[in-house]
Amino acid sequence: VLELSDPRQLYDVCEAERRRGRRVGLVPTMGYLHEGHLSLVRRAHELADYVVLTIFVNPTQFGPGEDLDRYPNDPEGDLAKCLAEGVDCVFSPPPEAVYPDGYQTYVQVEELTRPLCGARRPGHFRGVATVVTKLFNMVGPCVAVFGEKDYQQLQVIRRMAEDLNMPVEVAGSPIVREPDGLAMSSRNAYLSESHRGQATCLRRGLIAVRDRAAEKGGISPEEAVKLCRSVIEAQPDARIDYVEVRDARSLAEIQRVAGDGGAVMALAVFFDKTRLIDNMVL
Ligand code: AMP
Repeated sequence: VLELSDPRQLYDVCEAERRRGRRVGLVPTMGYLHEGHLSLVRRAHELADYVVLTIFVNPTQFGPGEDLDRYPNDPEGDLAKCLAEGVDCVFSPPPEAVYPDGYQTYVQVEELTRPLCGARRPGHFRGVATVVTKLFNMVGPCVAVFGEKDYQQLQVIRRMAEDLNMPVEVAGSPIVREPDGLAMSSRNAYLSESHRGQATCLRRGLIAVRDRAAEKGGISPEEAVKLCRSVIEAQPDARIDYVEVRDARSLAEIQRVAGDGGAVMALAVFFDKTRLIDNMVL
């Protein structure tokens, strides 16, 4: 596996691959890799010939008081996992290679970034859209793979790529979960044993709504939110950031959850300072 930290070298390597007629695939991450990330790598291998995994804890997508300064990292473990998965190139630039002195250009996706995590984390998706644009320009990928775990992020990136005529295919990949249903996340490492046990409530809340909607042939957003909140609030230390049901594509508010895949239920829950997210298309 080729290890790079210089954006220009990365571009040259990827350009050489493209000239040989090979499709370049990109998997952007913030590192501390787990099975969720590795599932994206496997998807990238299906869609491309040369797979680049990037590891960059992007400062512009963190708000003040968030976990930028304590985000977990394990460069050696990450590299071993990339080697085992046949990643062709691992790119981990220093922050100043991405945001040099005088940096002042940002990408803003409008409507899609207003609700859900966008409302709770002002500036977050501006940072995400900006860094993903920069990675697209550094790599020139034919395809880039993102997890459905970050559902709103995936919709934002799809919209951005289309709106800005970026010549890249944006592929989504399903949520990978622990055996008890908790969505895998680098941030799960922050959880105490007790909170780790309680954290299954996110998934259980979503399943309760799915089952109720199937039983009754549909459900109102209000009832869906109430039911999901009641499952989560049964845990002593769960602090709900938001629980919402929205249109699966536009993320606009909706009148009814019909159970036809047109709605997404998305939520964020704190245990102490650790913020977990999950979602389900209904
Ligand atoms: P992160 O390192 O958390 O920024 O995530 C990098 C990429 O991996 C994003 O596209 C995430 O959506 C994706 N990802 C993270 N966790 C999971 C998971 N449990 N299942 C599927 N994809 C995931």
